[in-house]
Amino acid sequence: MRLTKLSTLSLLSAAIGLSLASTAQAARPDAPYLSNSEFQQCLDGLKNSSKFRGVDSYTFNNYRPSEPDPSVIQSLNYQPEFQKDIWDYLSVLVDKERVEDGIQAKRQWADTLRSIESRYGVKAEHVLGVWGVESNFGQTLGKKPLFESLATLSCFDRRQSYFQGEYANALKIVQNGDINPSDMTGSWAGAFGQTQFMPSTFLELAVDFDGDGRRDLVNSVPDALASTANFLDKRGYRSGEPWGYEVKLPNGYWAASNRKDKKSISHWRGQGLTLANGSPLPYDLSSAGLLLPAGEDGPAFLVGKNFDTFYSYNASESYALAIAHLSDLITSENSSKTDFVTAWPTNDPGISRQQSKDIQQALSNAGYDIGGVDGIIGDNTRTAIQQYQTSRGIFPADGRAGQNFYRTIVGNGNAVSNSYNNSRPLVPASADRMGQLIQQQTVTPAANTYPSPAQPSSNIRYRRVPTSDGSIRLERID
Ligand code: CA
Repeated sequence: MRLTKLSTLSLLSAAIGLSLASTAQAARPDAPYLSNSEFQQCLDGLKNSSKFRGVDSYTFNNYRPSEPDPSVIQSLNYQPEFQKDIWDYLSVLVDKERVEDGIQAKRQWADTLRSIESRYGVKAEHVLGVWGVESNFGQTLGKKPLFESLATLSCFDRRQSYFQGEYANALKIVQNGDINPSDMTGSWAGAFGQTQFMPSTFLELAVDFDGDGRRDLVNSVPDALASTANFLDKRGYRSGEPWGYEVKLPNGYWAASNRKDKKSISHWRGQGLTLANGSPLPYDLSSAGLLLPAGEDGPAFLVGKNFDTFYSYNASESYALAIAHLSDLITSENSSKTDFVTAWPTNDPGISRQQSKDIQQALSNAGYDIGGVDGIIGDNTRTAIQQYQTSRGIFPADGRAGQNFYRTIVGNGNAVSNSYNNSRPLVPASADRMGQLIQQQTVTPAANTYPSPAQPSSNIRYRRVPTSDGSIRLERID
């Protein structure tokens, strides 16, 4: 639904399973020069166009940007420099911290969620799963001024027609009095509020649930949660059904991953599939498709219609799986184990947001420019990791932040010995049966740290020290 993540995630989905070491080619294009006179001329034309018929001229003029914002065109054409594996994607989105925040939110909003469930038939934890993945339970909303972003995208580059509609819709939202103009900030593409709806989705599906007469998806949690439930309901949610479940395939079973090819549970039972723990498949899904995000050797899932409603939120199977998994963990109130029963086909699993922050802090302490410790492993951090790996002869220098790199640069806190004995020789990555590269270079014991003794001068180690405010400080050990 949202272009913001759509562009990144569709690429991401395409890249799932690939862990090819990428080279550090600069992928972010420079912000283009945009002529302001051309921009103003374009806005004059839009004002009188049919798309803006429902927008009064006071509203149009009052929120008319004085100049375009070239950064959104830069974002529109941005191609991520590094590809991401699904286990990296999920480990950051569904970590202990987010599950705990979700459990707390479930308690805090219990009455509201109960009313929403009885009105829309959507399970509370499914609403919470979307909320957690979309905006980190209302904590992460975009900060870009919406009118500038949408007006710029309406007048330059590809997809102008689409964004003109969204621009007009954003103006209508303010005109209707639903959202304060000052709250109209969001992603570069115009998704905003705790549900990260695009303006057109807002007009179609947002609801006023707290009864103040406004659909305020920025400031009202009841409005945001009910609007999410309304979205799922209108996209075909089936009350009382789970989204699906992790399953175990019989030995030697081969099937393509095809979530859309839905079959009955009897069919899947007949094929020899069971729940991941080995017990028989329950008959609580009217039909289900098989989802194998990383091939037959990784976790396998049977997914029903409700998974498809998560998918319709952002057109990405990884994204939908993050919502599904987060909602299960919030249901079971278990934040200690966020993995699936079957491990991902990697010997270097992904890291949590806290571990991402630890890595960023360590890199920053070591003098690398990572652009800020935010727990998001973006291009800056990955480039820094790649430089770090290159300078220390770590192969492949792929810029990836996984558990191995985490141990390399941060250590595991309780056993940071100065022993180099655990270092194993680095072996080149080899192609697996799918013709893709699986990293094999670092089957290392937990306490292992790089670099090798051959480079003692560049050896920087850190110990994790808990501080009085509960955070972790990294202390350099020489
Ligand atoms: Ca309201």
